[in-house]
Parts: sequence; structure tokens; C-alpha cells
Amino acid sequence: MGKQEHDSEVKHWADQIAEEAIERVKKNPVLKKIVAKSGFFVYDEKTPSGVIHIGSGRGWVIHDAIAKALRDKGVKGRFVLSSDDMDPLDKYSKVLSKEDNEKYMGVPFRYIPSPVKGYKSFGDYYFAQVTDLFPDFGIEAELESTGEEYEKGTFNKTIKIALDNADKIQKIYSEIYGEEVAAADKLPFNVRCPKCGRIATTLALEWDKQKEKLYFECRNDVVKWGKGCGYKGWISPYNGNGKFPWKVEWAAKWPSKGVIIETAGKDHFTKGGSRTIACKIAVDVFNYPPPYPSSGYYTGPGYEFFTVGGKKMSTSKGRGIGFAESIEFAPAKMLRFLLVRTRPNAVIDFDPYGTNDIILLYERYDRAERVYFGKEDQGEKENIKQKRIYELSHVGKIPKRMPPQVPLIHAATLVQIYEDDNDIIQNLKESEHVYKDATKQEIEYVKDRLGFARKWIKEFAEDQYRFELQEKVPDVKLSEKQKKALKLVAERLKKGKWTEQTLYNEFYTICRDEVDIDTKEFFRAAYLVLLNKERGPKLAGFLLAVKSKAVKLFESI
Ligand SMILES: [Zn+2]
Repeated sequence: MGKQEHDSEVKHWADQIAEEAIERVKKNPVLKKIVAKSGFFVYDEKTPSGVIHIGSGRGWVIHDAIAKALRDKGVKGRFVLSSDDMDPLDKYSKVLSKEDNEKYMGVPFRYIPSPVKGYKSFGDYYFAQVTDLFPDFGIEAELESTGEEYEKGTFNKTIKIALDNADKIQKIYSEIYGEEVAAADKLPFNVRCPKCGRIATTLALEWDKQKEKLYFECRNDVVKWGKGCGYKGWISPYNGNGKFPWKVEWAAKWPSKGVIIETAGKDHFTKGGSRTIACKIAVDVFNYPPPYPSSGYYTGPGYEFFTVGGKKMSTSKGRGIGFAESIEFAPAKMLRFLLVRTRPNAVIDFDPYGTNDIILLYERYDRAERVYFGKEDQGEKENIKQKRIYELSHVGKIPKRMPPQVPLIHAATLVQIYEDDNDIIQNLKESEHVYKDATKQEIEYVKDRLGFARKWIKEFAEDQYRFELQEKVPDVKLSEKQKKALKLVAERLKKGKWTEQTLYNEFYTICRDEVDIDTKEFFRAAYLVLLNKERGPKLAGFLLAVKSKAVKLFESI
């Protein structure tokens, strides 16, 4: 195996992308200049038209991880997320009244009042619903408003280029979609009507290249879903007086902001889709190299779908749940870990109902953490991989000492035995899951996990993980051999110090050498007496967690 192959097998995808971007910039004098001025611009954008779907969250974590990987390589990686709040309301919104829907249909989201008090606009409100959670997800992003960028004049230069080259853009549309497509004979700019504030109902009819003014009309026949006010006249297209159509805007943002990396969901990357058009416009009209994963006209691949909640949620809510809702299914940092450890081209369907998805996620997180802190050896290659996944997915500063690890199933067992977290912590200290000298932060970390364990047991766990420790011996039939074995276990528990392993071994000694009972029969009896069920959590660990109660129960059979 060559060195390169070996590298790509071990190297994290975010590092691979960062290195590719650094190489690309090195070779391109235009990009080199841009990066020297404003750093490695990793860009993403989202229309705040309502609840933002969890699928977009995948893009934010991907871009954030790439920006971090860039910074780790000593260059200035920046993740910038822009709210596309110049996009207009284009379908009926359930949070607005009937009158407001009519009034604001076709108006940009930044000029529609917020449905909830305390936010500047409709767009602001829905954008904040996701960005407020960024600290929990460990996403470090500079937030922007596309409308504000228009107002500041960031796009003035590209607006002039696009309008001066309108024929080129029209030709690109007709080449890809055929001449009958509307954009093939429209000017690539939508004026915001100064009279009614709508942007979707205006039609630009003439561009005066010398005066740099557009002639436009606000009409009833531009879109089916919105009516214009009839205003017409000449207007400057600059400083927030309007916006590009979406596909042109995508291409125009790249040179205007100096974007080096911007991926998106794979639905944008279909043949002839928005990325295809944007790449062609960027190259042919703006003379700018489209950002990674694109290269020239080649779009490259977008990232795969990410759903949370599985079938249950996607059928009840159409396309699935919102980003803000996702933390009802797993803590934000765990979802981040899931996204960082999975290559962007793999589909993720995280389904906590009736599956092992949550248990596996916690086990994998804990394993990566043990490898990171040198407590587990998975072999050279796997160690490198796991360490990097842990670094890129850890939310906040990585502590000096490994956080106390309590496997989720064990935490779930304990929360069903004890009401008070402090009793559990005491128990965990005795079982050496938690350091005797644990710091306040470490205790908080464990309590967090106990909190999620409670939620998991209540909402997601399969029945086999749920139980109720009995106060007195339930009405069950036991053989003499079963009774004898349980009494012997009680005796052993009272004497001596046991670990999960030594106690487990002792079960076999008792069954085989002292009672002559089938071990299956022994385990069945123990669960019946303790839980009034035939099965339960791993017995040795469970007995150690409920030692005194178990002794009492076994002695009284
Ligand atoms: Zn109007």
C-alpha cells in the first residue's frame, strides 16, 4: 500500500477537505489574494422561511468541522452562515394571519414582522431558533444576513456584472433548461418594489448600463401566488433595492464574499440543478472558481440526507423534524459526534425508537474518548482515526483527565433504582465508575448522562431495559435448588469485595460446584425475585448496584 492510500484511509474527511482546499488556493493566484485578505471562507446559507429542517444541520456541522480542521493546520478557517432573509414569502404561512399572509406574500422575510415578540423580523426569529443552539452543538459560526449584505453594497459589483452580461446568463439557462424556461429571457435581478415592498411580483424590463438603472414594473402576472401594486419606474439595483434570482445569487456570493468552500445537500447537486447553473455562471460570468466540492463546471457531490427520529417522525411530519427539535432525541454533542464520525456521503437515519441507535452512539462516543485518553488501544490506524473524531466532535475545551464514563445502560439501570442523583453518584464512586476525587464539572457531566438515561428509559428504550426493583419477594414459584443458590449469593455479597467479573465467576462456582443447578435456572430465579421478570440488566453489575436490597430479598425467600 502506498503512503497516500494509507493516509486517506486514516485521515478524517474534514482534514482531507481542508488539505485539498489549501492546495487549491496555493495553485490559484486569485484565491491566494482573497485568502490573504479574508481567510479561508467556509460558507453556508439558509432561507429562514419557517422551521429549519434537521438536514441543514448536517451542513453546519460539516462546515464547522472543516473550518476547525483548517485552523488546526495553521490557516485562518472561518465558517460563515448567512440568513437568506431577502428571499420572499412564497407560500401560505401557518404562523401568520390570513390578512398578513396576503399583505406579506412576495415580501422578503427580513421585512415581515416576527411571529413572536423580541425578534427584528420573521426571518430573524426562525434563524435564531437554530443559531441559538449552536453553542450546544459546538458550532462556531459568524452569522450574517444576506439582506444586510445587499444593503451594505457587498453585491453591487456582481450585480453590475450580472446585468451587463444578462445575455450570457440567459444563454446558460436556455442551454441547460431549454429556451422556453422563463429565466432564459429575463434580466437576472428582482427589484424590491419601493411602493408595496414585494420582491416576487416585479419584473425588470430594461437595464441602462450607463446610468446603472433598471426599469421595472410591479405586476399581477409575474407569479401565480402574489399580486403586484402596479408601480413602475427606474431604480438603482444597488444597496438593497432588490436581489438576484436564487441560482444567480449563489454564483454571485462566491466572488462577492471570497468563498473557498461551500457544500450543500445533494438535492442541490442533481444534474442541471442549482449548483450546475451556479458553477457555470461563476466561471463564465464572474470569472471565479466555484468553491469546493465543485471545480470549474464540475459540481462535485453534495452531502447525504440526515434524518432523526426514524420512520415514526418522518411519516408524521413529512420531511422529518426541525433542527431545534433534534435534541429531543439525543444530546446536541452526541448528534455532533454522529455527524463528525460519518463521512458526508453516507446517509444517516438516526432512529431512537425500538433500535440500538442511541446505545451504539453512546458506546462509540465513550470508546473514542477512551482511545483519545490512551485508555484503550484499537490498533495504530484506528487509534489515529478515533482520536481525531473525538477532537473534532468534542464540544468545548477537552478536559485534562478523561471524563468519568458511565455506560448508558448502566446509567439507565441506576436511575430506575435510585431517585436521588447523589445516591447514584455515591454508588458510582463505590463501583469506581466515578473518580473518588471527581471535580464539580465531572459530577455535572455524569448527572447530565443520568438525565438523558431517564429520558431514554421513559421514551425510547425497549422493554427489556425497563424494570422495577421489588420491595418484597413477589409471588413466584422457586425450586429448592434455586432458593439455595440465591441464598448462597446473598451470603457471598455480604462477605468480601466483589467486582462485576469476580462476582460473575462466583455465580458459576455456586451453580456448578455447590448447588448443581443449570445457570439459566439460576439467572431466571434471581430476576424473578428482584424484578418479578424473567430477564433484566446484567446480573453481576446489577447486584452490586442494589447490594443491600438484593441481600434482603434473597434472604427472605
Ligand atoms: Zn409594488
